[in-house]
Amino acid sequence: MLTIESNLQAVQGAISAACLTYARSPGSVTLIAVSKTFGAEAVQAAYTAGQRQFGENYAQECADKAQALRAACPGIIWHFIGPLQSNKTQLVAAHCDWVHSIDRLKIAERLAAQRGPEQARLQVCLQVNVSGEASKSGVAPEEVAALASEVVKLERLQLRGLMAIPEPAAELEMQRKPFARLAALMAQLNTQGYALDTLSMGMSADMQAAIAEGATLVRVGSAIFGARTKIM
Ligand SMILES: *Cc1c(COP(=O)(O)O)cnc(C)c1O
Repeated sequence: MLTIESNLQAVQGAISAACLTYARSPGSVTLIAVSKTFGAEAVQAAYTAGQRQFGENYAQECADKAQALRAACPGIIWHFIGPLQSNKTQLVAAHCDWVHSIDRLKIAERLAAQRGPEQARLQVCLQVNVSGEASKSGVAPEEVAALASEVVKLERLQLRGLMAIPEPAAELEMQRKPFARLAALMAQLNTQGYALDTLSMGMSADMQAAIAEGATLVRVGSAIFGARTKIM
């Protein structure tokens, strides 16, 4: 558990260093600790070290951790970042604060219908398939504007920005390209009257490149919690 604390410090240090290198103001990049496959005790260790934003990929696992930690760890912000099927939207609407992986209108409509009137609006990002791989989820770049124009009408949701998981690349310069594409897409939407402020991009292996291109939320798992061994 001390490892989690020192890993968190190292990641925060790397974020600060990247902000300095790329002339980003300190505090403009928020770290989401991706705790998928790790237990509630790992989340609690990170919480004790000061971390408040957590990311999860599996709806049931996220709901279980949120319930288990509600009393012990008040103020956690839960981000749902994984692929979302229709039959899991209820769990996510009930337990999460953010959803990064909206890639079709039907999912957004279900989340909006299931979000309780007593809850804050669900904060959402549209996931964009910036690398164009057949296997990855996300809306095609040329379809983002149409999806945004529908999602923005859903009153229980607040459209905040875009998210992407690009194809892995070893070199920083290659990593930057898809992130630059995502940033340009958001800028383009903002010229059409949106006020989007969130670019969810960058993981353990490509965080620097994402920060260079304007990431506001970075989603980091293994650099904090260690390698994932569990297969879900
Ligand atoms: C697992 C996951 C992460 C974290 O990945 P690491 O390589 O462990 O940092 C970030 N984003 C999404 C969508 C993920 O599924």
